[in-house]
Amino acid sequence: MSLNKYKILAQKPESEPRSLWHQWPVALAILPFFGVVAAFGIAPDTIPEPIELQHIVEEIALPISPFASTEESRYWREERIQRGDTVASVLARLNVNDVDALTYLLQAKDVRSLYQLIPGRTIRVVTTGDGQLESLSYVNTDGRRLHVTRGESGFSSSEELPQTEQWVMQSSGEIETSLFAATDSSGIPEFVALQLAEIFSSDIDFHRDLRRGDRFSVVYEALAADGEFVGFGRVLSAEFVNQGHTFRAVFFRDDQGRNGYYTPDGRNMRKAFLRSPIEFSRVTSGFTSGRFHPVLKTWRAHKGIDYGAPTGTRVRVTSDGYITFVGRKGGYGNVVTVRHPNGYVTLYAHLSGFSQGLRQGKRVVQGEIVGFVGSTGLATGPHLHYEFHVNGVHQNPMRLAMPPGPPITAQSRSAFEEFTQPLFARLDMLRNTDLARLD
Ligand SMILES: [Zn+2]
Repeated sequence: MSLNKYKILAQKPESEPRSLWHQWPVALAILPFFGVVAAFGIAPDTIPEPIELQHIVEEIALPISPFASTEESRYWREERIQRGDTVASVLARLNVNDVDALTYLLQAKDVRSLYQLIPGRTIRVVTTGDGQLESLSYVNTDGRRLHVTRGESGFSSSEELPQTEQWVMQSSGEIETSLFAATDSSGIPEFVALQLAEIFSSDIDFHRDLRRGDRFSVVYEALAADGEFVGFGRVLSAEFVNQGHTFRAVFFRDDQGRNGYYTPDGRNMRKAFLRSPIEFSRVTSGFTSGRFHPVLKTWRAHKGIDYGAPTGTRVRVTSDGYITFVGRKGGYGNVVTVRHPNGYVTLYAHLSGFSQGLRQGKRVVQGEIVGFVGSTGLATGPHLHYEFHVNGVHQNPMRLAMPPGPPITAQSRSAFEEFTQPLFARLDMLRNTDLARLD
């Protein structure tokens, strides 16, 4: 008696419809922020792959050995790359048992990108029942999909640009000790945290102004290739509540290509002067006001603002202008002075060094690095002494209202409102989620 039965030998990806992944950003958007972060980290494990599984059914005769090898059978598998993985260790987990394949992958120049394995991404393979590799694919560091396939005359490889799409991520946080501590615990990547500090840098001095209890929300882009995360993108909108004061910003590009961050009513977030000449980074992100003499107490005495920061921290010019002095000058030590339009002058003292090529008369733009924090001259420890003069008179920049950059033009107004309305709506939603969480 012939015992014919059907057995599913393999599940093979037939096509990769985009539809499921198109739902992704929406799905992310409606999750509360911890959910977003968590879902993001583990997505490929818990969310079905973007493939239509087709059962390949083959008629076979019993009895079946579970280890039987059938030349026609194909197994499709994928494995997540772990920290410390090598190509060999991933292939072992994928049950690839194929010396020829390993030799090819180790030696072929075209597959070198496979050696920069990125933890969290997946390697997909199709093998025969006894572990011979038929094909392999992987999204490499350039965001291209590498394909390795077995042909008549051995293995060959090719690369293609995968289907890319943007995911919209969002998250909120509250300051306890520093901005980075808060963004880390909310799962916000450093690249996004730095953008956040930059966007509000004309209004908030992130070295001095942050207080415990300050809150922020941020909506930003992430880029995916073939459904796999490849990198973070631009901040789309953000809110920062600093000492009870709410600042909001949204990214907008008009049809002339002018772009930047704007307030909800279309004013430019960028002011003529940055609040702080110290480049914001992980090492400078703590509360510094306690470590150095507070501004207001010493302001009258030495007419400058001191920023305690590690030696070598980058010092940036706070506005466009021309260098009027570079060199050593008495108690200032190494000092740079810059003349700006409308009678403004800034001074940066006690530097350990200057940036290369800096000389008198050189034009500098806002944010350009002019030197590095040090303790030259009359300084008890590494810090930047920053002075701000208006028409030859020392002024406390913290007390000055700085003139802003150009606002949204009248022609772009309606496009601006249409584009930014949903982004501000997201911030409203994040704020309400936050409040609900606190109740
Ligand atoms: Zn000083």
